[in-house]
Amino acid sequence: MKELDARIKKEYPVLTSRDIVYLDNGATSQKPQVVIDTVNEFYEKYNANPMRGLYDLSYEATEAYDNARKNVADFIGAKDSDCIVFTRNATESLNLVAYSYAESVLKEGDEVIVSIAEHHSNFLPWQNAAKKCGAEVKFFECEQDGYFDPEKLRGMVSEKTKILAITHVSNIFGRVNDIKSFAEIIHGVGGVIVVDGAQSTPHIPVDVTELDADFFAFSGHKMFSPMGIGVLYGKRELLEKMPPFLYGGEMIEYVFTDRVKFAEIPHKFEAGTVNAGGAVGLNAAIEYIKGYGFPFIEERENALTVSLIEKMKEIPHVNIIGAKDPLEHHGIVTFTIDDVHPHDISAIFSDNKICVRAGHHCAQPLHKHLGLFSTTRASLAFYNNEDDIDAFIDTLKKIRGLMGYE
Ligand code: PLP
Repeated sequence: MKELDARIKKEYPVLTSRDIVYLDNGATSQKPQVVIDTVNEFYEKYNANPMRGLYDLSYEATEAYDNARKNVADFIGAKDSDCIVFTRNATESLNLVAYSYAESVLKEGDEVIVSIAEHHSNFLPWQNAAKKCGAEVKFFECEQDGYFDPEKLRGMVSEKTKILAITHVSNIFGRVNDIKSFAEIIHGVGGVIVVDGAQSTPHIPVDVTELDADFFAFSGHKMFSPMGIGVLYGKRELLEKMPPFLYGGEMIEYVFTDRVKFAEIPHKFEAGTVNAGGAVGLNAAIEYIKGYGFPFIEERENALTVSLIEKMKEIPHVNIIGAKDPLEHHGIVTFTIDDVHPHDISAIFSDNKICVRAGHHCAQPLHKHLGLFSTTRASLAFYNNEDDIDAFIDTLKKIRGLMGYE
């Protein structure tokens, strides 16, 4: 096991060149050398503006970009790669749906249901769109342990409900939501479901067709790929009807002084020069994930999460947020320590070369719902190991003492 642990860690330059324990994977993952090399190779050998040049170099750049799109479609179970739009990140993908889809369908008196556990990226675009259209935002609340009951949702929807925005895996609880049931409920009243997959794609297999998601958004940087590349999946019939989000080069067929014919999907939504290097990096990250396979990744992350939570439970005054069962956490462990502010907790971890996240984690409505102001989060990736957990636990045990408590 130790050999395997060391071999996996060695694939990550940051983890080998810096003397740190990295437990902030929910914020962003580290990048394996193979992804960094693939991005470098793109700029060294294939760099040209994709889809713009009528010469071999540009064709090759276009091919690399198109292949990335096909691989992303396959990775999330989308049958049609035209339904994959490259964006900057999950936030931009969700804004695209809010500005383009929501603003064209929402009318005065309509309702948008947003889960209370959303990252601000999957709440503020809806708050904004609803305000502009005279629609109302309603909150789908979870239990203290993060469980969302489909029956509660069933009791909330009506023909006024046009959109349900909900995360696949919460960045606070790590819990997987029952998207398939929610989709069935919202479809029953003629609405659509917008799924935030930012925290699911790095950890569990995703099949948007099986989930029956109308829209599915995620970021590359949380799943071993470069920053600045994200994805929006949408059902063809929805994307085709939606107006563009950004206007400019690359998203048109013909332009006249008084009118324009837009390009077909997905290009209609990819105005301006695309992030081909990022897409190629995301493609490499997907190949890297496939190389290990989700059964392997999940098994490692689950074992580490069980170990982490069981050890944390033995430390007095440490309170874990969310489900009691460690297997519901998918590597995300959010917690508080009685009497100690999360910023102090994080600073003490940092003094011990351990990276964790402290604050509201862009989920202020959820913190209020749970009666909390601020929390600390340790979030794992499959490249973490038992030594990381032990280092974390050693420091965790000392924190209250260092703050002057028994
Ligand atoms: N949704 C969830 C659940 C997240 O955890 C995050 C980032 O932490 C986001 C959305 C936003 O991701 P990005 O900043 O990459 O757009």
